[in-house]
Amino acid sequence: MAENREARIAPHMVVIPWLAQGHLIPMLDLARLLATAGANVTVITTAANVPLSTSPCPASLRFCVIPFPCPSLTGLPPGCENIDSLPTHRLAGPFYSAAKLLRGRIEHLLLHGLSPLRPPSCLLFGIGFPWLASLARDVLPIPRLVFHGFSSFTHLASHYLHACKTHERAYNFFLPGLPHKVEITRSKLPVFFDKASEVRSVYEEIREGEVAADGVVVNSFEELEPKYAAMFAEATGKKVWTVGPVSMCQREKLDVGLRGRKGSSGVDVDRCKRWLDDREIGSVVYVSFGSMGRLEPEQTVELGMGLVMSGWAFMWVVREGAPPPPVELEGVGERGIAVRGWSPQLMVLSHAALGGFLTHCGWNSVVEGVAAGVPMVTWPLGADQYLNEKLVVEVLKVGVEVGGRKEDEGLVRREEVARAVERVMGRGEEGNEMRRRAKELADKARRAMERSGSSGLSLAQLIHDVACWPVA
Ligand code: UDP
Repeated sequence: MAENREARIAPHMVVIPWLAQGHLIPMLDLARLLATAGANVTVITTAANVPLSTSPCPASLRFCVIPFPCPSLTGLPPGCENIDSLPTHRLAGPFYSAAKLLRGRIEHLLLHGLSPLRPPSCLLFGIGFPWLASLARDVLPIPRLVFHGFSSFTHLASHYLHACKTHERAYNFFLPGLPHKVEITRSKLPVFFDKASEVRSVYEEIREGEVAADGVVVNSFEELEPKYAAMFAEATGKKVWTVGPVSMCQREKLDVGLRGRKGSSGVDVDRCKRWLDDREIGSVVYVSFGSMGRLEPEQTVELGMGLVMSGWAFMWVVREGAPPPPVELEGVGERGIAVRGWSPQLMVLSHAALGGFLTHCGWNSVVEGVAAGVPMVTWPLGADQYLNEKLVVEVLKVGVEVGGRKEDEGLVRREEVARAVERVMGRGEEGNEMRRRAKELADKARRAMERSGSSGLSLAQLIHDVACWPVA
C-alpha cells in the first residue's frame, strides 16, 4: 500500500448528514470544525436541510445541494425532507426508503461532480445512509467514516450486546463489556435490539453500514467518558475520534439562536432571552424532549402540574403537533413559560438563569447540557436515551432520574416530577454536589475543545489520518 501523499496537503472530506435534526445539527457543527481546522469540506444535503446562518462559513466549507425525490416517487407529503418534518413516526420507514433514491445523484457527485476541488479523500456519512459505506467502497477507494450520533458509552455497550446477545437470554442484566456494573432491562435498550421491530430490515442495513465503516466519529470528549472510546476502538479494530462537544463551535450569538431552525418555525429568541434575563441566577428549569419527543396528553398534564408543584421557574418547549400544556398552567403567569416551536437551546442552556435541564437524554442534549454545566433531570423516551440516562445518573452523577417509563408502566406522576426537579434544583447537599460536578465537567469540555485539548487534538488527528490514509 502506498501512502496517499497528494491528499496530505489538505484532505477533501465529504460529509453527508443523515436527514434528522439530531444527526444533521451535530454533523453540520462537525463540518464547520473540520473546515476551521484546515480540511476542505463539502456537505452534500437537500435544500431544506441547508442551515440558516448569519456568520460567514469558513471558505473551505461549501454546500452541494441536491433535490429530495418528489412526493410522486416517495409517497411522502410535499416538503418532508427531514424526519423531523414527518406528520407521523409511521412514515419513518418510507422516509428511509425515499432517501435511498438519492443514491444515483450522490454517486455521480462523488465520481464526477465535486470540481473544482480534488476528488474526495474520505466520506463521512450519517448512519441513516448505511448504503453509502458500500457505495464508496465500490466506486472510490477512500475511507468511509460513520457518524452515529451516539456516546462512546452507547457504542461500546451496543458492540458487546451485538456480540454477546445478553439481552436475548435475560430481561434484567448488567451491560456486557463495560468497565463497571450498569444494570438495565431489555425493554430499555435501543429499538434495534428488538427482534420483533417492524423496521427490523432497516436496522439490519444500518448495522451493516456500521460494520463496514473504517472509523467512527463521536460527539463526545475523552474526559467525559474515560476509556469507553478506547475500549470501543480496541474491541472493533476501528479508528475512533472523539471531537466534541461539537456545539461549542457555535460562537456567534445569532447563529446560536438559528441553530437547527427551519424557516419561520422558531420561537422568538429575544422573547426567550428577555424572559430569562428577568429571572434569578440558577432558578429556571429548561424542559425539552428534543426534536421529536412528544408526550401523551395525560402525561403532559402530569408534567405541567409537577413543574408547578416544584415551585421552580420553568421554560418548557412544546413541539408543534404535541398536546398543549394543561390549562391550569395558564394561571402560572410569571413562573412558567411554554414555548411552542424550535427553541434556541444553546442560548437557553448557557443563560445564567438556568439551574437545571429536564431532558429526554438525546445524546446531543446531554452533551450540550454538560458543556453548559447544568445538572439534569432525566426522562428518556426511547432510542439510545435510556443508555445515556445511565451514564448521566450512575456514572457521571450529574442528574436524577424522573423515571421515564415504557407505555405499559403507567404515567410519571406529578409528585415524582416535582421531587426530581427539587433534588436537582434545591440548595441541599445533593443538589450542590451535582452542580459542582456539572461545572467541573463544563470546564473539562471547554478545555477539551481547545487546540491542545483532547478533542482539539483528536480533530487534528482525524484530518491527519484521512490525509495519510493508505491507498489500496
Ligand atoms: N434542539 C433545539 N431546539 C429545539 C429542540 C432541539 O435547538 O427546540 C436541538 C438540540 O440543541 C440538539 C438537537 O436539536 O442539538 C436534538 O438532538 P438530541 O440528540 O438531543 O435529540 P433528538 O432530537 O435526536 O431526539
